[in-house]
Amino acid sequence: MDRKLPFTLDQAKAWKASYGTPFYVYDEEGIRKAVTGVQKAFSWNAGFTECFAVKATPTPAIIRLLASLGCGTDCASVSEVVISRASGLSGRRIMFTSNQTSGEAYRAAVVAGAVINLDDITQIDVLEKAAGIPDTVCLRFNPGSFDVSGSAAVTSPIMGNLSDSKFGMTREQLFEAYSILKQKGVKHFGIHCMAASCCLEASYYPSLAELLFNIVAEVREKLGIVIEIVDLGGGIGIPYRPGQEPVDILAVGQGVREKYEQILVPAGIDVAIYTELGRYITGPNGYLVCSVRGFKHIYREYIGLDATACDLMRPAMYGAYHHITVLGKEDKPVADAFDVCGGLCENNDKFAVERFLPQVEMGDMLVIHDAGAHGRSMGYNYNGMLRCGELLLSADGSVRMIRRPESLDDLFATFDVDGDFNW
Ligand SMILES: *Cc1c(COP(=O)(O)O)cnc(C)c1O
Repeated sequence: MDRKLPFTLDQAKAWKASYGTPFYVYDEEGIRKAVTGVQKAFSWNAGFTECFAVKATPTPAIIRLLASLGCGTDCASVSEVVISRASGLSGRRIMFTSNQTSGEAYRAAVVAGAVINLDDITQIDVLEKAAGIPDTVCLRFNPGSFDVSGSAAVTSPIMGNLSDSKFGMTREQLFEAYSILKQKGVKHFGIHCMAASCCLEASYYPSLAELLFNIVAEVREKLGIVIEIVDLGGGIGIPYRPGQEPVDILAVGQGVREKYEQILVPAGIDVAIYTELGRYITGPNGYLVCSVRGFKHIYREYIGLDATACDLMRPAMYGAYHHITVLGKEDKPVADAFDVCGGLCENNDKFAVERFLPQVEMGDMLVIHDAGAHGRSMGYNYNGMLRCGELLLSADGSVRMIRRPESLDDLFATFDVDGDFNW
């Protein structure tokens, strides 16, 4: 049995007839369920807010859907702040977690009333000069090393060991930064840490919460500062590979609650828990749908697609696994091991390497799973390729286009030539 899809071959054929391939399609129902699952897991915490990491799926229709479900956003650039504001968000519903930040970006975030999350102690000056020091400031902590209790140290495939992670400040810098900010008149404080990426351990958030809650208690004791927001970042993984199990999100929320009751409740401290999940929310609910364009039989067997790494670069960049379904052939026997490739002049432009698939034919439609986060948004234009469009699938089975495919006009819009560029 292949993995379940929220649409049928006939639906996909109809969408292909209307829009062509490749395209992304996002499952609105699936996104809703992921959000309500997270909210339910943390419903014990009055101030809980999921601030969706915009970079995962920066399409306004998706951000609006999430905002309508009570989510905020996590932003790192001017454009992500603009998309958040245009989706009706402001104030504490926007976390601004950036690094090597421009003055322009700080100003955009402060004007939006976003919670500024400083990546480094040196950023206090940069922020002050650019936009002044706001009432609320959060600080990003880097613990150097971090163990998910009961399992091996987190050396995530993407972020690696935290002592070589560029993000956040040390413990000493953290305490110093809080006292400087207090002197500068900051009234409300937060603490943030993201210690993993794509982590499937249910103990990850509880372990991280324990670390941060202890610092919250210590900061009050030593500096008299009451931290109001504890932001656990993103980083909960999804089962990309067959055989992997999804994270039990209710157990995650319960695990954080236990730490809260052990550490904060006795200290009489009340904080709002924030999460910045991206992948967990949209990852499994977005699919890259493409068509077979050709075959090669050389030293290996190749299936050529009309999508390229410009549409989904995770396999090329990280060697990431994405499950592939041949629509309508889910129950057919395996024919061979195929490299499934795009048309870039780069040999890493492969969606799968030596993947066992059934016999496919010209025009067959392939679905690349788990592409809803860090998929279209990591796209690029190498070889002058145009990135594909995005569809949103409603519960009633209808789709609407929420981003059209790129055109040559889009690609050429930034050229500066003498006179017109007539092509
Ligand atoms: C990328 C990122 C996230 C989202 O990560 P996921 O793996 O998609 O959950 C959250 N917070 C910050 C600061 C990030 O950089």
